[in-house]
Amino acid sequence: MGTIRDRDAALDSWYATTALPWPAQPPLAGRERVDVAILGGGLTGLSAALELAQHGLKVAILEAHRVGWGASGRSGGQGIFGYGCDQSKITALVGREDSRKLFEWSVEGVNLLRERIARYRIDCDWRDGHAHVPIKPRQVTELRAWQRDLQENFGYETEWWERDRQRQEIASDRYLGALFDAKSGHLHPLNYTLGLGHAALAAGVRIFEQSAVVELVRANKPVLRTAMGELEADFVVLAGNAYVQGIVPELDARVMPAGTYIGASEPIGPERMQSLIRSDIAVADINWALDYFRPSSDHRLLFGGRASYSTLQPLNLRATMISRMTRVFPQLADVKLDHVWGGYVDISLNRAPHWGRIGPNVYFAQGFSGHGVAATGLAGRIIAEAIRGQASRLDVYARIPHYPFPGGRALRTPLLVAAMAWYKLRDALW
Ligand SMILES: Cc1cc2nc3c(=O)[nH]c(=O)nc-3n(C[C@H](O)[C@H](O)[C@H](O)COP(=O)(O)OP(=O)(O)OC[C@H]3O[C@@H](n4cnc5c(N)ncnc54)[C@H](O)[C@@H]3O)c2cc1C
Repeated sequence: MGTIRDRDAALDSWYATTALPWPAQPPLAGRERVDVAILGGGLTGLSAALELAQHGLKVAILEAHRVGWGASGRSGGQGIFGYGCDQSKITALVGREDSRKLFEWSVEGVNLLRERIARYRIDCDWRDGHAHVPIKPRQVTELRAWQRDLQENFGYETEWWERDRQRQEIASDRYLGALFDAKSGHLHPLNYTLGLGHAALAAGVRIFEQSAVVELVRANKPVLRTAMGELEADFVVLAGNAYVQGIVPELDARVMPAGTYIGASEPIGPERMQSLIRSDIAVADINWALDYFRPSSDHRLLFGGRASYSTLQPLNLRATMISRMTRVFPQLADVKLDHVWGGYVDISLNRAPHWGRIGPNVYFAQGFSGHGVAATGLAGRIIAEAIRGQASRLDVYARIPHYPFPGGRALRTPLLVAAMAWYKLRDALW
């Protein structure tokens, strides 16, 4: 046990071919002692590590593979406010006052991305602008209601594009308008993650790669054990996302790994790209199994979608991705996909973030539910605050109720597949 099997790791990602240099870090060997031991070298773990090291704590990260190997280095790169579920769901779960705070902090997450890119001079192609697009009349109503809710209850301004304007900006007949947000945006997620890794190293964080944690010994001084070493600490942070397994069963039971996939087209040149997406923005529809896409810095379309609820790679992935891409942009019928890859997201039952503490000294953040590019940075910061003695913000997240998937590990996949089938059917029919 330790990490889930991931055949998709072998898939070829455009990000890997355009990655910034990263110095391989040694594995953990023997016994070490730090103030804070972190499982997972993705954005959550790195963000917590950086904040803690900057406040003078001795921090080490154990990463089963290499920094950015998980979702953080593979994602659609869309850095958006909010969480994996609607804000109205969060309001229903925790009440209006807490919901307002949680929303505001999610916006802090997007700002934190921008601040860190600037502060650490991370070369990760950040671009402003994001649009949510409706496919069905029902979704137009939902997005307009969402826009009103954001403005009236959260003071957050977005822009509604009628269909003509949407088609000028996003040249697809599939959509019925767009909800545009100028403050969200997109980036090269692997290079951002590696940039944060460099910042963490510079702040004194020790990173051990090829160091899968096989056991958490919960004690007054908790210990993370790997095959070759032990890391003792005052505090442990679990940031293994969808990839961790068998370390804390009560956390495993509350998330479900779901596969999502991305294809990178061959480069189509700046003019042709602009004829599809005029202003270099990121786009996502609001279906349950959504499509999300954006231009790359070298004018490829990076097109994501196709959820799967097993840890096996789906058959005919390339053909499926081409068919989804050309359903949105039939103009790309002659265009090849140069790269196809995927990864897992950690879906919680209500799709709300599941961050908190178990016992006095073990912290965790999971349940990003496919919405973690911005929220992970915030999770790391808020856990770091709690470890430093200011837990008031983490306590608000900890008030969001979370339940195990019914049926436990054995049944969570079939049940989620059944739920997915229902939502997909609803998106298809109505
Ligand atoms: C294909 C894809 C597209 C996505 N697109 C978007 C998007 O456009 N916008 C958005 O907001 N979100 C998106 N997401 C979600 C987002 O990428 C994640 O929420 C976020 O990156 C999670 O970061 P993390 O650090 O928590 O986890 P990860 O980046 O997954 O890092 C966890 C790390 O823990 C390590 N690990 C696991 N188990 C162990 C162990 N036992 N010992 C040591 N190390 C271990 C793993 O190797 C991994 O490197 C996408 C995800 C995927 C997969």
